[in-house]
Amino acid sequence: MCSVGDAFGVDVADSLNTKSYKCKDCGNEFQGMGKKIICPTCQSNNVELA
Ligand SMILES: [Zn+2]
Repeated sequence: MCSVGDAFGVDVADSLNTKSYKCKDCGNEFQGMGKKIICPTCQSNNVELA
């Protein structure tokens, strides 16, 4: 029998959608999603993957 863990598949999919970013302007670390990432604190787009 082939068995797949459903519960753990959901967690993996969720963590693929959000990534950790760090703002180079204010140093804030946050979770971002999508193509256009801006800092929630200072609205800068000068961010990098943390
Ligand atoms: Zn910032």
